[in-house]
Amino acid sequence: MTASTMEALVLLGPDKYEFKEVPVPEAGPGEVRCRVGAVAICGTDLGIMSGKFFPMWPPEWPFIIGHEWAGTVEAVGPGVTGFGPGDLVAGSSAVGCGHCRNCMKGRYNICLNYGNVNSGHRQYGFTVHGAYAQYIAVNAICLVKLPPGSDLASASLYDTAGIALHIAKQGRIESGDTVVVIGPGAVGSVTYQCARALGAGRVIVVGRGSRLDKAAGMGYETVNFEQTDVTEFIKETTGGVGPDVVLECAGTAQTIVQAVEMIKKGGRVVVGGISQEKGAFPLQRFVLDEIEVIGSRAAPNCLPEVHAFVESGALALPDLVTHKFPLSEFTTAVKTFRERIGGAIKVVVEP
Ligand SMILES: [Zn+2]
Ligand SMILES: [Zn+2]
Repeated sequence: MTASTMEALVLLGPDKYEFKEVPVPEAGPGEVRCRVGAVAICGTDLGIMSGKFFPMWPPEWPFIIGHEWAGTVEAVGPGVTGFGPGDLVAGSSAVGCGHCRNCMKGRYNICLNYGNVNSGHRQYGFTVHGAYAQYIAVNAICLVKLPPGSDLASASLYDTAGIALHIAKQGRIESGDTVVVIGPGAVGSVTYQCARALGAGRVIVVGRGSRLDKAAGMGYETVNFEQTDVTEFIKETTGGVGPDVVLECAGTAQTIVQAVEMIKKGGRVVVGGISQEKGAFPLQRFVLDEIEVIGSRAAPNCLPEVHAFVESGALALPDLVTHKFPLSEFTTAVKTFRERIGGAIKVVVEP
């Protein structure tokens, strides 16, 4: 039997949080209540905690964040089929309203009713309570079922992996394409695997340090931007024409401009990193070279595909979980993630 209260990490305001006993959420119509097994810390969590996104994320204090998680189904609400107590699941953060024009086209990541709870829209850990707690109740449609015995820590990376897959899909990679991935961090390191899984020929990774070494170790071509003029190098290695697709996962104005500069005539640049800066783009290229620059947000419809790629071996996620902590050691976990202590890539907390 579930207790009526649970331990949760509760944000009280900018840079202020505490562990509190709060009511266990009910599974309403269409919802599933899960015992949270693992939550991965995301860069966006740090931004939300600092208060810089308030009142978009969160809309109010106190608030429970956490959106990259996996757990065990404990109870199902009215109308839920396909899930039962004991099932292992991975969660995606977003559920669209389901009835706006974008949702109707499957683009619920850019739901026109974003943030409007009454419309049915939810983004767990952003606009409604998330997963840094012992339990979470979510709409069943944001869950993917895992085989019995699955490792929940690596399954907590499904949301991150879904973001990476969406970036790669937005590039409409064709078989044999040359793809450049800029930024081999948590998202980028799944993105280059997705590029290969989607049929790319050459996949060239741009970065530095241990994260770039990791890509090299997995057999990818690499370029160290600290040692090489990246645009020059990519031009040269592609016979002067540039790559078919660039997937930008670093999120700086400089790397986004770089992507636009290096792309082949008629090529596609996908921007997956969020930049706060402004950039000066070579605007002529949009017309004269018919280049496409495409944004990529969140992971719409991607979790079942991520699961299939994990099962097939096309995606290796467990290597990305470098550290694990109990929820009570959240402060140490955040420090490890923020300062990349011990080569931290993904840090997981276990409530
Ligand atoms: Zn995230
Ligand atoms: Zn919608």
